[in-house]
Amino acid sequence: MPLLEIDKDKCIGCGGCVEACPLGALSLVDNLAVVDEKCTACGACLLACPVHALNLPEAGPQEAAKDLAAYSGVWVWVEQFHGKTGSISVEMLGQGRRLADSRKVALTACVLGHNVEHITKEAISFGADRVFWVDDPTLAAYSTAPYASTLINLVREYKPEIFLMGASSRGRDLAGSVASVLYTGLTADCTGLEIDPEKGLLLQTRPAFGGNIMATIICPNNRPQMATVRHRVFEMPVADLKRQGQVIPIKTAMSAEQITTHVVDSILEKDEVNLADARIIVSGGRGVGGPAGFETIRKLAELLGGAVGSSRSAVDAGWISYAHQVGQTGRTVRPDLYIACGISGQIQHLAGMKTSRVIVAINKNPEAPIFNVANYGIVGDLFQIVPALTEQFKNKLHK
Ligand SMILES: Cc1cc2nc3c(=O)[nH]c(=O)nc-3n(C[C@H](O)[C@H](O)[C@H](O)COP(=O)(O)OP(=O)(O)OC[C@H]3O[C@@H](n4cnc5c(N)ncnc54)[C@H](O)[C@@H]3O)c2cc1C
Repeated sequence: MPLLEIDKDKCIGCGGCVEACPLGALSLVDNLAVVDEKCTACGACLLACPVHALNLPEAGPQEAAKDLAAYSGVWVWVEQFHGKTGSISVEMLGQGRRLADSRKVALTACVLGHNVEHITKEAISFGADRVFWVDDPTLAAYSTAPYASTLINLVREYKPEIFLMGASSRGRDLAGSVASVLYTGLTADCTGLEIDPEKGLLLQTRPAFGGNIMATIICPNNRPQMATVRHRVFEMPVADLKRQGQVIPIKTAMSAEQITTHVVDSILEKDEVNLADARIIVSGGRGVGGPAGFETIRKLAELLGGAVGSSRSAVDAGWISYAHQVGQTGRTVRPDLYIACGISGQIQHLAGMKTSRVIVAINKNPEAPIFNVANYGIVGDLFQIVPALTEQFKNKLHK
């Protein structure tokens, strides 16, 4: 039985739903929409209908808003690529554990893919109490419809209170798809997550208005409360290989025949700069004065075995590629050592690096805001200080 209801008196035969259906489950017969067995109640057609002729009895605003007390537990979607867990998901498991402890509820990991049983054990070692394990060849490569419909079905059945995903390309795609069908709120790109001690709501903090303020967003009337979190905002938890948890095998929501999009090829982009994983970053800003100035920065970074970062001004000026940009619209980084050279320290830059373990700022303006977050500040010309530091490190490291 198809799950979608079509009100034939309201339908105007516009075909909007036919185009919106990712599964080809809708067609027009005698100028009226008709649904077949391929429908998985994903809800993609509901928003496309201009006359509200479509209805999913279990979906809609009423679904998300009803009986909030029935929702309990914290969930994390564990992203994997070619069978390897994304470090962003491990960070999410660490946060999920912390939030679950604060709410005194269980942490559930959702592991989708093919031949991914090893990831269920990993998820437990990083804090999950329970794992939904959905293993199917159709899930080997990420695709929105089968991943989203499987998670939507799980949410409808098990009703989590909080659902977290990493703000990776896939996480952003999946979280939006799941939240829109479930009619619930989603805060994207969070940099902070806490539990309101009085109301128990998830406090989701993220930069807003161009990064000029930090907004804390709540989702009081709908469930689950959903958030994506940027990479490297939170520390990686330490694995406890002795932890025990429950692994529940789950069937995928869509059969191979129902999936109309197919991954033809996947090309792994050569990551020119791996800022996210660098333990040391030497960053240059407008103060480096041009592309040649970055050579001074690069020499120090190479000597320390680190990566080169930059402010957006340097990227906008065309001195260095976007892959190096740190900040609100660039990468979030959390290295052991961040050396900011000729960077003033505007809030949008700080949003991407202020949780670095040790920050060293080199700036000729003693009033530069970067000094407010720096552990060590050096006031002076970077073209004197950086080469001098490079020389000193060379002597120390090669003694
Ligand atoms: C929506 C939005 C998103 C943004 N996203 C980002 C982002 O992701 N990342 C980001 O970085 N910015 C971002 N910005 C831009 C941000 O507001 C700042 O404009 C930018 O960070 C400034 O870069 P800067 O510090 O290199 O340049 P400036 O602010 O011009 O600072 C240059 C600094 O270099 C110092 N200096 C100059 N010469 C020397 C020298 N010889 N030796 C030592 N010090 C010297 C100066 O004293 C000055 O403090 C964003 C802005 C907006 C509106």
